Amino acid sequence: MSLHEAITAFRSQFRGAVIEPTDAGYEEARKVYNGMIDRKPRAIARCADAGDVMAAVRMAKANGLRVSIRGGGHNAAGLGVCDDGLTIDLAAINYVRVDPSSRTVLVGAGSKWSDVDHATHAFGLAVPSGIIASTGVAGLTLGGGMGYLSRKYGLTIDNLLAVDMVLADGSFAMASADENPDLFWAVRGGGGNFGIVTSFLFEAHPVDTVCAGPMLWDLDDAADVMKWYREFITSAPEEMNGFFAMMTVPPGPPFPEELRLRKMCGIVWCYQGSMEQANTILEPIRSYRPPAFEHVGPMPFPMLQGLFDGIYPPGLQWYWKADFFKELSDEAIEKHLEHAALLPTWQSTMHLYPVNGKVNRVPETDTAFSHRAAVWSEVIVGVDPDPANRAKITDWARSYYDALHPYGAGGAYLNFMMEEGEDRIKAAYRGNFDRLAAIKAKYDPDNFFRVNQNIRPAGAEGKTASTN
Ligand SMILES: Cc1cc2nc3c(=O)[nH]c(=O)nc-3n(C[C@H](O)[C@H](O)[C@H](O)COP(=O)(O)OP(=O)(O)OC[C@H]3O[C@@H](n4cnc5c(N)ncnc54)[C@H](O)[C@@H]3O)c2cc1C
Repeated sequence: MSLHEAITAFRSQFRGAVIEPTDAGYEEARKVYNGMIDRKPRAIARCADAGDVMAAVRMAKANGLRVSIRGGGHNAAGLGVCDDGLTIDLAAINYVRVDPSSRTVLVGAGSKWSDVDHATHAFGLAVPSGIIASTGVAGLTLGGGMGYLSRKYGLTIDNLLAVDMVLADGSFAMASADENPDLFWAVRGGGGNFGIVTSFLFEAHPVDTVCAGPMLWDLDDAADVMKWYREFITSAPEEMNGFFAMMTVPPGPPFPEELRLRKMCGIVWCYQGSMEQANTILEPIRSYRPPAFEHVGPMPFPMLQGLFDGIYPPGLQWYWKADFFKELSDEAIEKHLEHAALLPTWQSTMHLYPVNGKVNRVPETDTAFSHRAAVWSEVIVGVDPDPANRAKITDWARSYYDALHPYGAGGAYLNFMMEEGEDRIKAAYRGNFDRLAAIKAKYDPDNFFRVNQNIRPAGAEGKTASTN
């Protein structure tokens, strides 16, 4: 049977949509969030349920098609889509069921965090995720998941209770602390290497209105603010979170006209408590270096999660570089200042996310995510709508990264990386890498799931890891 005939036969047993290059909707369906990625799969299988995912895996396997797995499509490197293979798209598996009595949330693997936030907020609950709710639940969770609630409640994986999965042979499996615990260990940080997750069961926490928003300072104050911040955020109550940014002020409200498009530094706060308590905790920075602008106030948690939606619509060009840091030395701060002054476009930015509090208290070998003692996760993104500016944003991000990398902890958060090769993947997993490779050999010995930050099966060293 030819591939064309195989895909035609597959359509008849598939409940969702099979989209081929000649179908209307193909161009839209192959797009991912990062406009720099332009891949053309042989077909896109938009699955309706776990049964469809099993059928898609079996069809791809029988026909020697490589597979990419698409959750929310936000991956930095565009790893949700592949050239010439089958993109297994989970967007239609989108549901959220909140059980308020057990404070657990069952989430379909095609959901975005905005879907989860909306559903949980009605119950005064939230699942710890990132800082932008348009990201997919699947990719963010499987890589670790760091955001506004991490200091208090840990990474997203620290709140994951169970997953349903389709394995490389097309069979179905469940994984939790009690069932397939090796697989459950591996998916908590090991990405899409072990199978296709069709649903996630999370623990949620009482998070309702938060006191949140940005404070901005002139770059002249940035060194002092950064030095204050490095002490503050490692000792502040864990209800307080704030990520540091080198940024350009967006060209619209609520920012005052005189600050728009000015390069500045900022901290975006999120406090779980009253505004009165937040003001007490933030008083030292307000009196030490009064912000040039601030917009901190009470807001529903989902509103905070949507704060950047207008600034970062889908389809922009994104170039990502990342590292973990244990320290923020005076020398490193100097380098930050040099590169902040050279921000190439207004959407380009550098963020430092605190990876401390609860995240640090989970032992490094409890989950696949290894950099538990990191303190900060740095991401540098060159961003612009115009493909003609690709070199400009890429060069800036690389040179910023090169300047700071020597001060780093020797690895990076894989969800903030483009494809940078196996050494960087090993540096991300460190002591957990060999265990991951052994689990990969058990569940995916042929490296069927390889369009990802790939962990080759133990024993497969020397074989080339072709990705997309
Ligand atoms: C604007 C923006 C903001 C971000 N902010 C944060 C943040 O605050 N915190 C944070 O931690 N991360 C953040 N990220 C990074 C984000 O975690 C990754 O981009 C992540 O890969 C997105 O998941 P996705 O499902 O949307 O990705 P996709 O592109 O759909 O998938 C990415 C990869 O994940 C794997 N995958 C996806 N779905 C499944 C599945 N169901 N089963 C198995 N494997 C699967 C596959 O390997 C796939 O290649 C941000 C990204 C963007 C673009």
